[in-house]
Amino acid sequence: MSALDVLAIGAHPDDVELSCGGTLALLAASGRRVGMLHLTTGEAGTRGSGGLRRREAEAAADALGCVEVAFLDCGDGAFRTGIVEEDALIAELRRLRPELVLSPTPADRHPDHGRAHRLVHDCCFYAGLRRRGSGDPHRPAAVFSYMQHDPFPPSFIVDVSAHWPTKERALDCYESQLHQPGASPAAASGASDGAPATKVGSPEFRRAIVGRAQHFGLMISAAYGEPFWSPLPLAVSDPLSLLPRGLR
Ligand SMILES: [Zn+2]
Repeated sequence: MSALDVLAIGAHPDDVELSCGGTLALLAASGRRVGMLHLTTGEAGTRGSGGLRRREAEAAADALGCVEVAFLDCGDGAFRTGIVEEDALIAELRRLRPELVLSPTPADRHPDHGRAHRLVHDCCFYAGLRRRGSGDPHRPAAVFSYMQHDPFPPSFIVDVSAHWPTKERALDCYESQLHQPGASPAAASGASDGAPATKVGSPEFRRAIVGRAQHFGLMISAAYGEPFWSPLPLAVSDPLSLLPRGLR
């Protein structure tokens, strides 16, 4: 297969879609080769199962226009970052050969997210070392972090207004995890199917995803925006391309 332009890596299925699904939809719609890699199947989640969440993730990847969706087994709820997990991720980076990687932030409410950041950050470097493991070395040009629970001052915000409906369709694929539009409050709390209620499965959480995108959209004069953090300064060829397009 040919190399990916962008690979979004998350600790659990739905992390990437919730955080940067609009950006992935935008990139896929503009002809970029976009992939997703889930470092666990979310098997320790309160609701659903590893198998079900895997099927939901595959449907969500389809909805966003991804050409690849892959899974590793780093251990949901007890995330491992040892040599076995490094070798597995290095092999995937060399197979998929992304130019850009999107990752969790260095620290977040769920400890798996920070551990996943460390693993992704380290492996993006190690994958470029000729004498580390086997396979053709490959080092992504950059790693940007998307926003999950904990806020941060963004390095840049992507205008995802035109692709927000596509992101919503991807989130609708996660029936076991996220509140579904039109569902009763009982279904949202898990009471209808006997599943335990979760914060992530509440109507408030789903509304907060929209509210946050509207907040960051406003920062760039757009309807919806997704924020990112870069540990390194960003290179631009045209400073005017950075200006907001909407009302000032
Ligand atoms: Zn997560």
